[in-house]
Amino acid sequence: RFITLEGLDGAGKTTHLTFIRNWLAAANVDTVFTREPGGTPLGEKLRELLLDVDTEATLDTETLLMFASRQELLSSVIRPALAMGRWVVSDRFTDATFAYQGGGRGVPAKRIAQLEEWVQQGLQPDLTILLDVPLQVSQQRLSQTRLPDRFEREREDFHQRVRDSYLARAAAYPQRFFVVDATGDIADIQQQLAGRLAMLKAQ
Ligand code: C5P
Ligand code: MG
Repeated sequence: RFITLEGLDGAGKTTHLTFIRNWLAAANVDTVFTREPGGTPLGEKLRELLLDVDTEATLDTETLLMFASRQELLSSVIRPALAMGRWVVSDRFTDATFAYQGGGRGVPAKRIAQLEEWVQQGLQPDLTILLDVPLQVSQQRLSQTRLPDRFEREREDFHQRVRDSYLARAAAYPQRFFVVDATGDIADIQQQLAGRLAMLKAQ
């Protein structure tokens, strides 16, 4: 099983990832956790470049670097793990590229879909958890934490388009997406997540 976790920065991915990790461990599911961009030695170097506020890159270059990191992760981590029957949980995946580079920056979805086809060869997550929060909530949570990275310091309208793109993708692929209202009570959100994970395990 392949699970991806998506959402705006500040939606609570880190908090809920810890919960997912504990739930899967308690359920004795052999799981590999990874993140994007990153997750491999080369991918982590690309991540550093991509998030560095001093990096300048054209839109297409940024998109290609995301997919370069993804290609590396797929071939050295995700595909081998799935082939061994392990579960994989990735903190972000291709939906983030549709949302950030596509919706946020305006790279045509068709172009991203071409790279998706090239790199994934039809492989899709079994479950994509979208932690959805309104912009104000994510911005407020972010301002309380660390220094913003190159994407986090983008303007509000950028993040609004990112959120809208995520929701549009969730509507387009309802089978795979599980949208959680992440503004609410943490215990309540975790109960929803546990229910969905139990379903996936039983399938
Ligand atoms: O830890 P986090 O997943 O938030 O860090 C990744 C950063 O890279 C985020 O700021 C996210 O907005 C950005 N990103 C992006 N496009 C992707 C994946 C991540 O802009 N395809
Ligand atoms: Mg972030």
